[in-house]
Amino acid sequence: MAFEGLTTRLQNVFSKLRGKGKVSDEDVAEAMREVRLALLEADVNFKVVKEFISKVKEKAVGKEVMESFTPGMVIIDIVNRELTELMGGTQSKLAKATKPPTVIMMVGLQGAGKTTTSGKLARMLQKQNHRPLLVAGDIYRPAAIKQLQVLGEQIKVPVFSMGDQTSPVEIARQALQEAKTNNNDYVIIDTAGRLHIDEALMDELRQIHELTNPDEVLLVVDAMTGQDAVNVAENFNNQLQLTGVVLTKLDGDTRGGAALSVKAVTGCPIKFATLGEKLDALEVFHPERMASRILGMGDMLSLIEKAQLNIDEDKAKEMERKMRNAEFTFEDFLEQMDQVKKLGPLDQIMDMLPGMGKMKQTQNLQVDDKQVGRIEAIVHSMTVQEKQHPEVINHSRRKRIAAGSGTSVAEVNRLIKQFDEMRRMMKQFSDMMDPKSAKGGKN
Ligand code: GDP
Repeated sequence: MAFEGLTTRLQNVFSKLRGKGKVSDEDVAEAMREVRLALLEADVNFKVVKEFISKVKEKAVGKEVMESFTPGMVIIDIVNRELTELMGGTQSKLAKATKPPTVIMMVGLQGAGKTTTSGKLARMLQKQNHRPLLVAGDIYRPAAIKQLQVLGEQIKVPVFSMGDQTSPVEIARQALQEAKTNNNDYVIIDTAGRLHIDEALMDELRQIHELTNPDEVLLVVDAMTGQDAVNVAENFNNQLQLTGVVLTKLDGDTRGGAALSVKAVTGCPIKFATLGEKLDALEVFHPERMASRILGMGDMLSLIEKAQLNIDEDKAKEMERKMRNAEFTFEDFLEQMDQVKKLGPLDQIMDMLPGMGKMKQTQNLQVDDKQVGRIEAIVHSMTVQEKQHPEVINHSRRKRIAAGSGTSVAEVNRLIKQFDEMRRMMKQFSDMMDPKSAKGGKN
């Protein structure tokens, strides 16, 4: 996962501070040296690091910190705020034209993720009840047009294309007409990328810019390329006046340098981040939530938003009723896993829970989708009766289930044991929550 090294290092610095009732100037200085190293190692631009440390120091050596009862916590809070500030402070929203359509021009180097991000953005807008039009303006990369058309088909968003023989400027012009005719309120133009920035490319982009007068010029950069991404952003910004940056591939093990430097170096806010190849792997970028994730403090807000978008409320209520009444079966268990999977890869979900990063690290806890697959295979190998009444699963049934699911008897035993424990805990929890049993002390 992104930022893993940085998170670990920062947490180590802070756990030293947290234990102290009083901190000396020397403690602060030592902590700052370590934070500085951690940021440099995460490939954050050195000028940005220097400024960051001097700002934190200025605030951290004040009287309030030294006299606070929890000086360590105050310092963590200062770092959290400065990290947030570094990434732009508050969320930078997508611009909206006063008179539709809102035109969004996507630019960036080849391979950064421009075409897929265009599709993801269209998907996000469509979920918000907008009517986006995708425009295939990359006529040079073989298969770029086809790729956009396939994406459009998947999400049922129209794609405007004139093949690869018409100039991108003309394509953009006609696309705007098409959007007006069809009442599309957003036009997303996928432009050509190159392996390196060159004059011909910039010329073409400037022409499209002039003609369409876009509300947004979003630069798509690959977070995995670290400081290179920042240099590309600086270069594009000098020539095109970007309005925002989309950081892609944050699901990879990027050290984080691009996310933490790009706003400070270019002045351009990060508006979105992508965390996977799937079409719903686009997130609005919230600096404060990202800072919290980097510090290993989780991101419950994003998790709740994801749940609200993806989880069927009626099903969730029914599940809750069953849990309270201890009617939860292996069939419900499978269904619940399906619901959780809709939120994204488990590893990413875990990182949104406060403290989970640290637990993963210290206990070598690994929850990956492959393991989930094995658990599902076990449950699928059970008969309906076994799923509904797990108590009938005796030793010979366990052997059969293990053979049927390609797992071992030990794994089947473990799952059934965990399931029993889970049911018992749910029952205890619901009894505790039940006012009748609390008063009467029965059950
Ligand atoms: P373009 O040349 O800029 O249009 O790049 P593409 O949209 O074709 O993307 C290049 C590659 O990066 C494709 O294989 C994408 O699936 C992949 N990609 C894009 N965004 C992400 C992301 O957030 N995570 C991961 N893992 N892969 C991504």
